[in-house]
Amino acid sequence: MPVDFPDAKDFPQFSIRSEHALDRMAEKRGDRGWLEERLAAGGSRFLLLANLSLAVNSNADRSETSLRWHSAGEIGKLGLDRTRAILLGCDAGGHGVFAVSLSEAEASSVPGGMDALKPLVDLRSLALQGALSSQDLSVAGMARALAAWHDVTRWCGRCGAETRPRDAGWRRECTACEQEFFPRADPAAIVLITDGTRCLLGHHKRYAHKFYSTLAGFVEPGEDIEACVRREMREETGITVGEVTYMASQPWPFPHLLMVGCWAQALTTKLTLEEDELHDARWFTAEEVRRMMAGNHADGITVPGPHSIAYALIKSFADRCGA
Ligand SMILES: [Zn+2]
Repeated sequence: MPVDFPDAKDFPQFSIRSEHALDRMAEKRGDRGWLEERLAAGGSRFLLLANLSLAVNSNADRSETSLRWHSAGEIGKLGLDRTRAILLGCDAGGHGVFAVSLSEAEASSVPGGMDALKPLVDLRSLALQGALSSQDLSVAGMARALAAWHDVTRWCGRCGAETRPRDAGWRRECTACEQEFFPRADPAAIVLITDGTRCLLGHHKRYAHKFYSTLAGFVEPGEDIEACVRREMREETGITVGEVTYMASQPWPFPHLLMVGCWAQALTTKLTLEEDELHDARWFTAEEVRRMMAGNHADGITVPGPHSIAYALIKSFADRCGA
């Protein structure tokens, strides 16, 4: 059956995205004078992360949560070296916004460090709870993605010596051979597959019980997005994919992906699952998808929340088909 793809301009909203974050001030990252001024300024704000979890303000049952910001003075009192702060950008008032990433061992060695860090909450839980605004989620996502990259880039992949952060945390340089390393955003295709009347959603082994989502996979070297979608779907589900159309993309901070969201036409519908990864995949009608989104599907199946592009892909199908 021919597939009527939606127009990318009608694609639904989702909350973690770069337009909701900050002015990134990329041109100022190497300007030491500007940076030192911002690092010491009264209006600057610092977000603390320990083992990639975020320090937040929260009431006992976590029904109200916000990012916990520290001033330059508070960072100084904790004995943290401000020069290790990563510049996330400037807010609407022109104030510097930074992240400082610690290991829990480091935090516990700083007087008052553990208090400054409690409670620590994983960003994925915060996103699922819907506790943070789009802007806070997007800023926290950027901080987590950068912190995760710094964590695995401490040593030079070329000569094995230590690397040091440069340019306000946007570059690392080897102390021995001067090899440079830049923050990564790994591309992955995430795809709404449809046969014209139904869409294909999968349940991965790592997912919560009865949680289904759009299928996704990493782009390999030498591959474009369309080829990636066709290969991944053939490998994971046995489906042959025809036309592939780009809809929208999303920075996904687990750990630092760029999700490229597409619709794709299924030319075949018989499923042969690659069960090592994918526990189940099924075809769902738009009516079923609407029930899953509303939380009243007969089998109790749920789908991702509005922080993710997966939600927007699924919603675009529910909006488009069989309404
Ligand atoms: Zn090196």
